[in-house]
Amino acid sequence: MNKKDILSMTLAELEAEVTALGEKKFRGGQLYDWLHVKRATAFAECSNLPKLFIDRLNENFFIMRPTVERKLVSKLDGTTKYLYKFPDGERCETVLMSYKHGNSLCISTQVGCKMGCSFCASTKAGYVRDLAPSEMLSQIYETERDSGRKVESLVLMGIGEPLDNFANVMKFLTLLSSEKGMNMSLRHVSLSTCGIVPRIRELADMKTGLTLSVSLHAPTDEKRNAIMPINKRYDTAELIDACKYYFEQTGRRISFEFALIAGVNDDTQTAKELIRLLRPISPCHVNLIPVNEIREREYRKSAKVREFQQKLTEGGLNATVRRTLGADISAACGQLRRDSADNPEKK
Ligand code: SAH
Repeated sequence: MNKKDILSMTLAELEAEVTALGEKKFRGGQLYDWLHVKRATAFAECSNLPKLFIDRLNENFFIMRPTVERKLVSKLDGTTKYLYKFPDGERCETVLMSYKHGNSLCISTQVGCKMGCSFCASTKAGYVRDLAPSEMLSQIYETERDSGRKVESLVLMGIGEPLDNFANVMKFLTLLSSEKGMNMSLRHVSLSTCGIVPRIRELADMKTGLTLSVSLHAPTDEKRNAIMPINKRYDTAELIDACKYYFEQTGRRISFEFALIAGVNDDTQTAKELIRLLRPISPCHVNLIPVNEIREREYRKSAKVREFQQKLTEGGLNATVRRTLGADISAACGQLRRDSADNPEKK
């Protein structure tokens, strides 16, 4: 019999499972507390549960827990990159960063990615599978356990497209914010998307309070089509309309990611086009990132990041340059997984 993934269950689901096993409903609450607050990694640790019930739990459920396959710690700022391995052998990357306002964790939502952005290492070997809610949650739990640091904010900006794994990501957010569990306010969560328009609208209607980051990287259809295939499905005008809707519904400003690539999107004309595109939906925020160089492409970091920022600011946009953390362990996102020991993609 296939054991069920208990860490992916909401409190109500757990109560239903427990009752089905012939136990009292309150045992579900006790179990939920062991899993999500005390962070038990084995049912045997649940000392206030009857021995026979623990046996039934072991027969029917498993507790998701990835192992740390690699860990890189920056000597410059303590940024820590984890390569986690799940029980089926698949891997994902998770990055812990420290800021003045606390520790922030960047988690993955899929193994690989279908989106095909030309500058991104995570998508080069294609898509393997979605991550379960428990696999997203356990990236946080395992990182807190290993580092001894508390995760105060979260970004869904690791490997994968969160809006392409919508149901699992929404369930993960429910678990993350549950009062009886991790109890993180979704105001401390940012979700990054390449622009799956219908899902942005759906998310807006859900009014979760999370911050939406949109990976824009180019301001016109012609330029965006060349680097982000998703734009051929949902064009720039539709995307900006959906962003406007998100702001109207939630009152949360959109953050636009813009990775500056030398000779591709760092010229004055592009800055002007970007101002023209985003001014109508201001207030919003533009996050400029010097592109991370990956070996499959000739893309180089732009030397004009400050200049570009200044043009945007003069044009009335709120633009900042993302602080580089962990420069000494700065393999671009997705490269650690691809280079892992038994990955056939390894070169
Ligand atoms: N699929 C989601 C989230 C994962 S990617 C999305 O597209 O937003 C996280 C962010 O890193 C995105 O903004 C993505 O465009 C950016 N990114 C990917 N490869 C990059 C690279 N080589 N340099 C800089 N940013 C990159």
